[in-house]
Amino acid sequence: MRWTDGRARRLYNHFMHATPTAPAAPYRGRVAPSPTGLLHIGHACTFWTAYQRALAQDGTLVFRNEDLDPQRSKAKFAEAMLEDLRWLGIRWQEGPDVGGMFAPYEQSRRREFYLAAWRSLRNGGFVYPCTCSRKDLATAAAAPNEGDDEPRYSGRCRTRIREAAQHETPEGVNWRFLVPDGEEIQFDDRHLGPERFVAGEDFGDLVIWRRDDVPAYQLTVVVDDAAMQITEVVRGADLLKSTARQLLLIRALGLPSPAYYHCDLVRDEAGERLAKRHDALSLRRLREQGYSPQQVLNMCTSG
Ligand SMILES: [Zn+2]
Repeated sequence: MRWTDGRARRLYNHFMHATPTAPAAPYRGRVAPSPTGLLHIGHACTFWTAYQRALAQDGTLVFRNEDLDPQRSKAKFAEAMLEDLRWLGIRWQEGPDVGGMFAPYEQSRRREFYLAAWRSLRNGGFVYPCTCSRKDLATAAAAPNEGDDEPRYSGRCRTRIREAAQHETPEGVNWRFLVPDGEEIQFDDRHLGPERFVAGEDFGDLVIWRRDDVPAYQLTVVVDDAAMQITEVVRGADLLKSTARQLLLIRALGLPSPAYYHCDLVRDEAGERLAKRHDALSLRRLREQGYSPQQVLNMCTSG
């Protein structure tokens, strides 16, 4: 299997840990909210950081609308997030409202990119169809890791990798990416410093395409960041483990890896993540209550 091939690993280590010597590519950052609700203070703080980092480097900021989930995405929330971030003072040079050379900037219009990636993963022997039911998963999975979105999968359907080639299209089953058990994934976060995760321990085989024919977040983010030539990803520290997963996908797809800057999560006085108190702290609500953009941003640093 390719993961245990020493040469592939040395190459990987070379690319993942090499110090860039070529002149740095112009900075390209992004803000990438999902229109599944109103943006809250936690988003505001992370996106503000992304904006500031792009400004400081005289770079480009891309606005990407992650409206993939047809059930949960709403046009009214897509409108609201553009408006709320503009109100906050964030400006972007490319996005659904202003266009740009990497359009479209709505994930719902980028299916071809994701399909091509799925095909490449299938052809490369990196993914397999998983036919486990929700019930199977609930009983087989180890307890979900704290703060993690996805319980660790047992690997039960790994043998189905032989069936992958029979699928012309991804729909109908969950597609999982086979992680190289025991492999360490390391990266230097530009804010939090060295990070280390172990595949198969910190996370298991991840879904990259859902049974209901919606490509999964982990896949689409990697594909879009590469296609849009993003050089630095700024996001919340709750996604550190997802970054480790995504680095494996990036390698399997042969894509360049962006740098990462994971922001501290905003917490209230009691230490609870503000993201969990959605309604009370939506930008919309704060605005209606008469908060100024500056007062909202002050909550980011005082938290
Ligand atoms: Zn399965």
